[in-house]
Amino acid sequence: MDIEKTVRRYIERVGCASMSCKAALIDMDGVLYDSMPNHVEAWYRTIAPLGIDCCREEFFLLEGSTRTRTINLLFNRAYGHDAPEEVSLALYAEKVRQFRLLDAVEPMPGADAVIDILLSHNVRTVLVTGSSQGTLLECLDDDYPRAFNVPYRITGEDVKNGKPSPEPYLMGLQRAEVLPNEAIVIENAPLGVEAGVAAGVFTVAVNTGPIPPQALYDAGADIVFDSMSHFATHLPQLIDAINTVKL
Ligand code: CA
Repeated sequence: MDIEKTVRRYIERVGCASMSCKAALIDMDGVLYDSMPNHVEAWYRTIAPLGIDCCREEFFLLEGSTRTRTINLLFNRAYGHDAPEEVSLALYAEKVRQFRLLDAVEPMPGADAVIDILLSHNVRTVLVTGSSQGTLLECLDDDYPRAFNVPYRITGEDVKNGKPSPEPYLMGLQRAEVLPNEAIVIENAPLGVEAGVAAGVFTVAVNTGPIPPQALYDAGADIVFDSMSHFATHLPQLIDAINTVKL
């Protein structure tokens, strides 16, 4: 894996002279937590009983979307219109209830190592999640102490347009007070990768789910790792390349 080459390709793509690694904008589900199987199952158990045709796999691909976008997409396909807000809120409450009925979610193996490396290199860590579900947000302080203190936390409630819109990541850049070429995005889902790339940020994809890695490259990922542990072993080299490579 030629890490320097990926950095050079990014610099050429966005047309800047160099980059630096001052901040990492980090997705939550499927990156910090091994939570996607539970989200998928909870969505499926909420939506399928309504008689809306859906399959588990598509919820993996909708990952990163906000509540509104996910539910409206399903409603438009089934009924040809958006879900009324009160219906949407009730469905989301049911999805959260289903999520809580499932086994507890564990931190993603290797994620703690990634966070430790970032913090030891003085990289500001910022959470950028489409989720507004308290279940996991409440665990962050215990599982990743010091990493995501307010105001370095952007959730589904903070943005008007969720991923794949660049809005959440642009807001993350603003909070960290850095430019797009002074940060990296860490994502696991195609829609999230699209959002990071659209925000002009070097986007690392970590393929922790069942989708083929090519889907992440197709979404525009600058580099793809097959696990957070795999990413952790290459992260010091990536930070070094980002801080030194010039065109
Ligand atoms: Ca995710």
